[in-house]
Amino acid sequence: MRAKIRPVTPAPRQIAENLARIRERIAVAAARAGRRPEGITLVAVSKTHPAEKIRELYEAGVRHFGENRVQEREAKSAQLADLDITWHMIGHLQKNKAARAAGLFDVIDSVDSVAIGEKLNQARNPLAAEPSNRSFSTSRLGVLIEVKLDPESAKSGVAPDESQRIGEAILRLACVDLRGLMGVPPYFDDPEQARPYFRRLRELRDALTAHLGASRLPVLSMGMSHDFEVAIEEGATQVRIGTALFGERQKT
Ligand SMILES: *Cc1c(COP(=O)(O)O)cnc(C)c1O
Repeated sequence: MRAKIRPVTPAPRQIAENLARIRERIAVAAARAGRRPEGITLVAVSKTHPAEKIRELYEAGVRHFGENRVQEREAKSAQLADLDITWHMIGHLQKNKAARAAGLFDVIDSVDSVAIGEKLNQARNPLAAEPSNRSFSTSRLGVLIEVKLDPESAKSGVAPDESQRIGEAILRLACVDLRGLMGVPPYFDDPEQARPYFRRLRELRDALTAHLGASRLPVLSMGMSHDFEVAIEEGATQVRIGTALFGERQKT
């Protein structure tokens, strides 16, 4: 009797494999620090990658995605509207795009001024919203303050010693919910060298929590593809990973 022809095994899906490997590395880093992996949220950074890849990762179980440009998030939104994604804005936000961002994202991880906080608050306020903006979600918008960890960098973020003043002002806004801090250390080939920067962000968060009120700032968003394990050892509750999940980004 002839053997039945077996269906060809589909090629392993690279993105799902990458995800499994990252989840494993998160778990190992968490265990080293005596932490539980459930305490660490994976934010998949999907900037420059097409909607199909986002859907593939969603189907593999990821629910948090990060984009760094309002237009790009907007361009992908129709194709992904059926998915229950928590969208994070991780790039510098300009004031004139804040209202649009408030309608497209669930969390703005990169707030770096009181003025941006106020614009976001206004956009989420159902009483202040223009009738044409009524379709915007009017639930409170999550925000993180981005702290500049590298004084040499031209990147955005507030100076560490300004974060208390900005935190106090943002806590007074009714329609935004301040949840914690985000930071990007300088790039080092050896991620171990980023450790003091991660530690500094955690200490700043702890000091702000003590000052502003306990349990106010649970989120510490730090760590990317090349340094997330060190960040987890230093207390990250959110890691933002692009390249290690999706592969290299096209240079634009
Ligand atoms: C692009 C980006 C990431 C992801 O970087 P990878 O090295 O690809 O993991 C994380 N955080 C921010 C703020 C980014 O802009």
